[in-house]
Amino acid sequence: MADATDNAPKFEELAGLVKASFPELRCLRCGHDQFYLDDQGGIDGMRLLHSIFNDPLRPVVTLACTRCGHIEQHLTGLLRQATKPIPKD
Ligand SMILES: [Zn+2]
Repeated sequence: MADATDNAPKFEELAGLVKASFPELRCLRCGHDQFYLDDQGGIDGMRLLHSIFNDPLRPVVTLACTRCGHIEQHLTGLLRQATKPIPKD
């Protein structure tokens, strides 16, 4: 039996998903344009949402500004479904 993680989207795919969604991504706090990216949700409760949003292996993508450390998280399933780039109203 294959390890479940074999079916997980590649880290690069997640980076591409973020880039396609927010081509002009800037830190919400300081305006910086460089981020660390992580595929581990920081809160266990987030994992409860995975069944709703249909991405059980990578439910949350986390971005951390490399300048100020501000962290933002997106539900990966919703990010995938969204028309890209995602407009900012
Ligand atoms: Zn920042």
